[in-house]
Amino acid sequence: MSAAASSLAETLLGAMQRYWGYDAFRPLQREAMTCVMGRRDSVTVLPTGGGKSLCFQVPAVCRDGLAVVVSPLISLMKDQVDALVQCGVPAAAINSTMSAEERRIVAAQVRSGELRLLYVAPERLLMPRTLEFLGSANVQFAAIDEAHCISAWGHDFRPEYRGLRVLKEVFPQASVHAFTATASNHVQRDIAEQLGLRDPVMLIGSFDRPNLTYRIVRGGSGRFEKLSRLIEQRRGESGIVYCISRKEVEKVADGLVRLGHRAAPYHAGLGDDVRHRNQDGFLEERLDVIVATVAFGMGIDKSNVRFVIHNGMPKSLEHYVQESGRAGRDGLEAECVLLASAGDAMVWKRMIEGGEPDSVAGALRALEGMSQFVDGAGCRHRAIVEYFGQEYPDDDCGACDVCLGELDLVADPVVLGQKIVSCVARLDQRYGADYTAKVLVGSAEERILSSGHDRLSTYGLLSGERQQDVRQWVDQLVGQGYLARVGEYNTLEITPAGRELLRGERTPQLLKPAPVTRSRSSRRAAAGGTSADSWEGVDRDLFEQLRKLRLELASERGVPPYVVFSDATLRDMARRRPSSLGALLDVKGVGEKKRDDYGHAFVEAIVTHCTAAGVAMDQANGDGATSTPPARTADSEPFVPALASLPAFDLFKQGLGIDEVAQQLGRVRSTVVKYLGEYIQQEQAMDPSGWVDPAAVARIEAAYEQLGGERLKPIYEQLGGDVSYDDIRIVLSCLANR
Ligand code: ADP
Ligand code: ZN
Repeated sequence: MSAAASSLAETLLGAMQRYWGYDAFRPLQREAMTCVMGRRDSVTVLPTGGGKSLCFQVPAVCRDGLAVVVSPLISLMKDQVDALVQCGVPAAAINSTMSAEERRIVAAQVRSGELRLLYVAPERLLMPRTLEFLGSANVQFAAIDEAHCISAWGHDFRPEYRGLRVLKEVFPQASVHAFTATASNHVQRDIAEQLGLRDPVMLIGSFDRPNLTYRIVRGGSGRFEKLSRLIEQRRGESGIVYCISRKEVEKVADGLVRLGHRAAPYHAGLGDDVRHRNQDGFLEERLDVIVATVAFGMGIDKSNVRFVIHNGMPKSLEHYVQESGRAGRDGLEAECVLLASAGDAMVWKRMIEGGEPDSVAGALRALEGMSQFVDGAGCRHRAIVEYFGQEYPDDDCGACDVCLGELDLVADPVVLGQKIVSCVARLDQRYGADYTAKVLVGSAEERILSSGHDRLSTYGLLSGERQQDVRQWVDQLVGQGYLARVGEYNTLEITPAGRELLRGERTPQLLKPAPVTRSRSSRRAAAGGTSADSWEGVDRDLFEQLRKLRLELASERGVPPYVVFSDATLRDMARRRPSSLGALLDVKGVGEKKRDDYGHAFVEAIVTHCTAAGVAMDQANGDGATSTPPARTADSEPFVPALASLPAFDLFKQGLGIDEVAQQLGRVRSTVVKYLGEYIQQEQAMDPSGWVDPAAVARIEAAYEQLGGERLKPIYEQLGGDVSYDDIRIVLSCLANR
């Protein structure tokens, strides 16, 4: 970085630290802010929660003059303005809900030059009066939030956005910066074109959301039981449940309320007042769970949604990513669970075919993409990122049911897959999935007998299996690209990959049939741990107390709790436990203004709690921020594999090694290592030599003496990369018990 660039970065970081309490840029934030500072038009694409707002807010406080922010929804604007004012940044909005008097006050602030950011809806901005007024207001740049609304190709076209093109004419000296989370290339280019940007810098971030854990649970029966179990494990946390129909929304919300959850419905069929009440209840944390149709979400800025459960498959992966993406905007780990059944696709298909003829083909293609995602058995993060045309760099995301080894796979997928694909071949690739499944299980249906298909060598080849299970395997083979559905009748065709499978050159992943008893499937849904370790070192009791305090302060001031402090900030507080206002500033998300406004109350709560409980305060980086497994209990980590890990514990006790346990349980190694970490902790084991080669143990311990166990990477690098992270983890776990 040149000297000028690094001093610019320092200026930006200084402001970020002072007003927001953040000390590092997220990916592409520096680049996006640099464009704004340098008056270079830009389009920035970052996923939800990627931190787009800061890209224009930080430059707005670093530059003279006024930043105009165009935002589509009044509720979004209000949230952002509230949040800025809480941080001590002079910001305001003008919109139609304000009185003339309120508008006059804002106008005066603009004239006096004290305001840094002014939020406006496009239709108001484009009124001649507004443009004229702003013409004399030293507008330095315009930021267009949710910029995909300008594109008819996007999923949320708003005609009033089209007029924004005049910005470049009315404010020729000002730069224009567009922000969106929309993945499509086409829309990105359209945004630049429609806004008339001049040689814009295109900053396209990764669409991956590493803090989200994706899980797919198949099977239509007992769906409510599965759902309520998932929510039970997350009691007290904020979450959204999406359903396909309004009726389903009502039913599920009712059921949850009956189970004692603080839940409420949301769909377009409810009266305005009920909808607002329920939405506000969710934002203000009087409700934990909102059960909704897709109507819910746009304009929901709530950063601490900890889970999104889809009670039914959405109609496209675009929808799925957008809806599930409302979880974990604060960057902390969050769960996305998709409860899918074969019937969902049929429901959508009927709705699509009854809709606009023009859009049917596209919608069916999108639906097929969604079905393939559900039937796939590869890494979910990879599948999503690749669907949107990006490459996924890791082999193991550590945050999906596949990579966590939670899927129950059949023992011999090659043979099973070959049986199915060869049946498709015997049927001359002229039949669909249902028919093929019937032939495989040996159905005596008239149609099959009269075609003579009962004489095929593949007839009855899977007669021990249920037809619906065979049907699902067919779908999985399609999802994984071994078969394709073609033509009007969705007949099955063998792909090149399918031929490789027939030759035994490729191995599909086929799931064991969905269990008949519902407890097992629910347990499987709940198995597996979260990958993030953001609870490490956090005093849970203190965190809960700080949450209550936050709620009180927020209600007093009439703002949503997450505007006071995010969950991430509260966790960092409960980890560092600062005993003074000075130390409080080290907490991520505490800037000077918030320290002044809320510092006393929070420090007092921390000191009181820690003194009473005998917990140490002023932890530099959080005392538990080491790489050893944290003291997790079933209730502190709702998706902890408590039940799933028990069989592994028995095997460890019998002295089996990691690979043997993995084999016996049919789990991948990384999962077993995770179980082992818990086992070591539970048994207070001190000697790692049963699992790690003694020579490696000695080297890791020596490196630990030198470097500490704060982070694994320095140890790994010191040892030249020839000792695995797993080994380091295991040795450190044992060291922690000494
Ligand atoms: P987006 O608009 O891209 O969905 P936001 O701007 O709402 O995302 O940011 C999501 C969350 O991340 C907010 O709570 C925000 O304060 C926080 N955040 C943004 N940038 C940073 C950063 N550099 N360091 C820490 N937290 C950040
Ligand atoms: Zn994965």
